[in-house]
Amino acid sequence: MIIDGKKLSEKICAQVRAEAEMMRRRPCLAAVLVGEDPASQIYVRNKERDCAKCGIDSRRYDLPDTVPEAELLAIIDELNNDDAVDGILVQLPLPEHISERKVINAVSPEKDVDAFHPINVGRMVTGEGTLMPCTPAGIMAMLREYGISPDGKHCVIVGRSNIVGRPMGLMLLNADATVTYCHRHTKDLAAMTRQADILIVAAGSPRLITGDMVKDGVVVIDVAMNRDPETGKFFGDVCFDEVEKKASFITPVPGGVGPMTRAQLMKNILAAAKERALKNG
Ligand code: NAD
Repeated sequence: MIIDGKKLSEKICAQVRAEAEMMRRRPCLAAVLVGEDPASQIYVRNKERDCAKCGIDSRRYDLPDTVPEAELLAIIDELNNDDAVDGILVQLPLPEHISERKVINAVSPEKDVDAFHPINVGRMVTGEGTLMPCTPAGIMAMLREYGISPDGKHCVIVGRSNIVGRPMGLMLLNADATVTYCHRHTKDLAAMTRQADILIVAAGSPRLITGDMVKDGVVVIDVAMNRDPETGKFFGDVCFDEVEKKASFITPVPGGVGPMTRAQLMKNILAAAKERALKNG
């Protein structure tokens, strides 16, 4: 069965919109884009569109790639203190002269809708998070929707980045799965992936997972977004044609994890707005 992330994301957006419309003030995202990286520009434009679709206001700050780090930090500080702003998103990557860690740490945890701040990472680890990292939280929502419980399952994750693989494993652990992490230093990747009841692949390495690397009945979530330089089309890390024949569930690329990541960001903005509204009365 092919998991339809696009359809589910539309359902989530409609739910976010319904809740956003009931609020006294529309939730608001401030998106900060440094430089003119074409991919980042597309991501930010898509997020603005998603906001409009979900009844969320958005403001955009375009800064030149020469902007001094101190100036970017001052803008973040201003947004942290702006009562009309519920969520702050600084599009990564940043130019080399700016420390990503410093910027991530400067965003107020209550407005950190990417959930990259160490406080939100810590809350996610202990299972008390409200703002959850978008890609893994979107995948958890997808599993729930399709009735796939991680409880007692062996979940194998390929990739251990701070934004996808690592938090994914922790969320699955919190959902009572047995988790194995694989990465570039893993000795025999196929021996690991063949054990997976649920296989989550986020390596950014085209055709990494072939049909002989999975067992029958596996659930496969392909997070990767590899772009064919000639056609401009996106494809995953999984050889879809081969693996689909053995999988019980599989996500397509595009139309799987991507839309769910975007929908989860909208959920986070709404959650941040609701929490702030509660706190500020
Ligand atoms: P990253 O480069 O930060 O991390 C990749 C990880 O995969 C590393 O831990 C590395 O050790 C591991 N890896 C790479 N090649 C491997 C190999 N051959 N064998 C075993 N492990 C290997 O990447 P990231 O930011 O986590 O993103 C991963 C992929 O997911 C990319 O294709 C990215 O575009 C995509 N992505 C998609 C979404 C979405 O919403 N669909 C969101 C974020 C990232």
